[in-house]
Amino acid sequence: TVDRLSDLEKLSVVGHGSSGTVYKVRHLRTNSLFALKVLRFGPNAADARRQAAREADILTRVDSPLVVRCHGVLEGGGEDRLCLVMEYMAGGSLHDVLRARRRLPEGLIAGVAGRVLEGLRYLHGMGVVHRDIKPSNLLIGSHGEVKIADFGASRVVAAAMGPSSGGGDDACAGTCAYMSPERFDSEGFGDSGGFAGDIWALGVVLLECFVGRFPLVDAGERPDWATLMCVVCFGGPPAVPDAASPEFRSFLGRCLEKDWRKRGTVGELLSHPFVAKCCSTEGLVEDTFHT
Ligand code: ATP
Ligand code: MG
Repeated sequence: TVDRLSDLEKLSVVGHGSSGTVYKVRHLRTNSLFALKVLRFGPNAADARRQAAREADILTRVDSPLVVRCHGVLEGGGEDRLCLVMEYMAGGSLHDVLRARRRLPEGLIAGVAGRVLEGLRYLHGMGVVHRDIKPSNLLIGSHGEVKIADFGASRVVAAAMGPSSGGGDDACAGTCAYMSPERFDSEGFGDSGGFAGDIWALGVVLLECFVGRFPLVDAGERPDWATLMCVVCFGGPPAVPDAASPEFRSFLGRCLEKDWRKRGTVGELLSHPFVAKCCSTEGLVEDTFHT
C-alpha cells in the first residue's frame, strides 16, 4: 500500500471526471506507476464527502482482477479532498479506445462483454451495484485486460458490507445516458435492487462499440435526461443493425430487455453462446496505448 502522498510524484493528468482529476503518478521508493484520483468537495459539500467515502469504502473492499485495485486512501492535500491510489491502467478507458477506433469487431466486443460480466458477477455477489457502467468507466490494461472502475455512483444493496456503505438514493447518480427504464421510473427501481440496471448499461455500451456512436439517440442529438427518458421508457427496444451476428443480436436482446424482471442475469448471460466461446481482449490496445 501507499501511505503518504509525499511518496508520489505527479507525472501527467490522465482523466477528468465529474468528481475530480486522475493523475498518473510514480511511487518514488519503488518506481512503480499508479493512478491517483483526487476527489474534491467544497467545504460544505456533505453529500460529495459521503459519496467519496462510499467510493473509497467499496474500492478498498473489492479484490478481483476484474476490478481496478486500490492501493491506498489518503486524506492529505487539504481537508476538502480525498485521494485514491489506484492501479494504473495503461490502455486508458474504453471511451478512449472507441474515440481512436470508432467501432470494434464482434470478437473484441464479445471479449469485453465476458470480462465485464465476470466483474459484475463478482460485484453483484458482494451486494455492490455499480450504477455507472459506461465506456469511460471500463479501463484497459497494457495487455488489453478490461477492468471495472469508478465506484462514485455505486451502492451496496445487500447487508454484506455493513450499513456504512449503503445509502445513495439519488436515482440519477451516474450518467443518465446508460440508465435502464426502471431507473427512470422510481417505483420500478424500488424492487429491482438495481442489479439489472448494470446489465442494461452493459448492453448499451456493447451496442455503442458495434455502431460506433451512442446508439439510443440520433446522431447529433443531445442525450439529455428528458430525451433519454422518452426513448428508453416509451420507445421500442434499441435497434440493432442487421450486420450483427444472430448470437450478438440475441445477447443484446437479453441485455436490453425493457422489463428488468425478464432481462438476462449475469449468470444466464455468461453462458450465452455470444460470450461462452472465450474471446480475448488483447487486440484492444493496438494503437491506443497511453504513454
Ligand atoms: P465520471 O464521473 O465522469 O465518470 P469520475 O470523476 O468518477 O468520472 P473516473 O471515472 O474514476 O472519474 O476517472 C476519470 C477518467 O480518468 C477515466 O475515464 C479514465 O480515462 C481515467 N482513469 C481513471 N482511473 C484510472 C486508472 N486507474 N488508470 C488509468 N486511467 C484512469
Ligand atoms: Mg468515470
